[in-house]
Amino acid sequence: MSRKSLLAGNWKMNNLIADSETLVKGLVANLGNITDKDILICPPFMSIAKTSEIIKGSHIKLGAQNCATEDNGAYTGEVSPSMLIDAGCEYVIIGHSERREYYKETDAIINKKTNLALSAGLKVILCVGETLEDRELDNTFNIIERQITEGLKNIDVTNVIIAYEPVWAIGTGKVATPEEAEAVHAFIRQTLANLYKNDSSQSTQILYGGSMNPGNVEGLMSCPNIDGGLIGGASLKVDSFTDLVTKA
Ligand code: PEP
Repeated sequence: MSRKSLLAGNWKMNNLIADSETLVKGLVANLGNITDKDILICPPFMSIAKTSEIIKGSHIKLGAQNCATEDNGAYTGEVSPSMLIDAGCEYVIIGHSERREYYKETDAIINKKTNLALSAGLKVILCVGETLEDRELDNTFNIIERQITEGLKNIDVTNVIIAYEPVWAIGTGKVATPEEAEAVHAFIRQTLANLYKNDSSQSTQILYGGSMNPGNVEGLMSCPNIDGGLIGGASLKVDSFTDLVTKA
């Protein structure tokens, strides 16, 4: 089954509204007409409304980096999936390793957010990945299987994208080799095949994330089970994200 590529920029906590405006305008000019690949940008919450205005009329898609576990009510400081849709988002990233590590998000919390975001009508990029310690202890597949199985408990995977992001490769400049990444991507597809008895394991996009850049994207994208990337550092500059998307 052929799957469309998805290149998703995760800006993390970078860019004031004016910086976002400059970056998005550059991306719309360079990438706004591309339709054979999905191009997604995930700015910080504060820049979502402005980004939504600028990408109108282009093919660039908009997502958020996180959402609440509840859809409204007394949850000070939280942002709900329906608020994200209201502001123009189509996607949300859930379970990024920085959320798991710094904000103690468990698989149960991630499952709850995923369920709520899908019910609200968002597409979810569910992040999974092992730490360096997990890998050295030969625990990679166990960790990935647990994160996928628990994260997707009682969930229809139709609007879910998986991002495999080895924690040791995020923001470190240490990229997984295409062989290392492909082995885990193939395992994720098999895990999905075990969980879902329809053809969703074949149609689900599985992205690689962790120091992807214009220099390594082609090798990673040549792997049969790698359908795109979740890109941090290299998505923060017009030239590097343009170059990466063009080569993908
Ligand atoms: C990420 O934020 O998901 C990521 C992969 O970051 P980087 O590309 O900077 O490693």
